[in-house]
Amino acid sequence: MRSLALFGIENNALSLVAGLLVLFLVALWLALVFYTYMDARRRIADPMLVGTAVVAALVFPFVGTVVYMIVRPPEYLEDVRERELEIQAAEARLSQLEGDVCPYCDFEVDKDFLRCPSCLRRLKEPCRTCAKPLDPRWKICPYCEAEVSSGQSRGRARSGGRPSAPTRARPAGTGRPAAGAPAAALER
Ligand SMILES: [Zn+2]
Ligand SMILES: [Zn+2]
Repeated sequence: MRSLALFGIENNALSLVAGLLVLFLVALWLALVFYTYMDARRRIADPMLVGTAVVAALVFPFVGTVVYMIVRPPEYLEDVRERELEIQAAEARLSQLEGDVCPYCDFEVDKDFLRCPSCLRRLKEPCRTCAKPLDPRWKICPYCEAEVSSGQSRGRARSGGRPSAPTRARPAGTGRPAAGAPAAALER
């Protein structure tokens, strides 16, 4: 009688322990599913793949999460993005350090070169006032605010204007300065 009661208590305690164990395992399983979801979202951009990982963790308790942890991408998406941005910035810095290349012969030239030292072609026109190198797209000199006259004279020459403008522009372009202001600008 006493032993039976003892057995009953023992049985109750055992089933309680078993129930708690099952509860613990279920809680752990659901936590692992949640962890898989949160981790996959940070590592995988494709929502279909994130869903697949979560379903695998749900359908195959514990094993699904373990398999996911083996095959998951090694990096977080934000780390990948940050590294790509850093690489882009480094490339931009590098190209700035290297400067430009000559559009005719790809020789490395500085931004303020007036002529390419390799193929001797004209890269930029000097400002008439301050002799700083001007980008052909500029309408005024950004250094001294002088109007860019070379582009205007070239445009007039193309549209059939005065012949004096091309003769003044040519010595600067083909070498051999004739005399006067263009020669002084060339020397710089
Ligand atoms: Zn060149
Ligand atoms: Zn200027």
